[in-house]
Amino acid sequence: MPTIRQQIIELLADRQMDARELSGAVGVKEKEVYEHLAHIARSLAARGNKLTIRASECLKCGYVFKDRRRFTRPGRCPRCRESHLINPSFKIT
Ligand SMILES: [Zn+2]
Repeated sequence: MPTIRQQIIELLADRQMDARELSGAVGVKEKEVYEHLAHIARSLAARGNKLTIRASECLKCGYVFKDRRRFTRPGRCPRCRESHLINPSFKIT
C-alpha cells in the first residue's frame, strides 16, 4: 500500500487538485491534507521538484490571493469582504 503522501504526490503529478478533492481521493480530512502538503513541499524541494500553488480567488470581485504562501484557504476577501472563494489548488511540476 502506498502511503497517503505517495498517493497525493502521484495525484498531483498528474493533475491540479484542491485540498477538498485530495481529501476525497485519498480518504483523509481536509485539515490533514494540508499537513501532508507541507511535508510534500519540503521533500519535493530536496528532489528538485516543486509543489506549485494556484492562488485562491474571490468569486465576487476577482481578487487573487497571490501573496499568500500558506496552503489553507483564506477566510474572506480583503477587498469586498465576501467569503465566496475558490480554493487554492496544487500541482507538482
Ligand atoms: Zn472579493
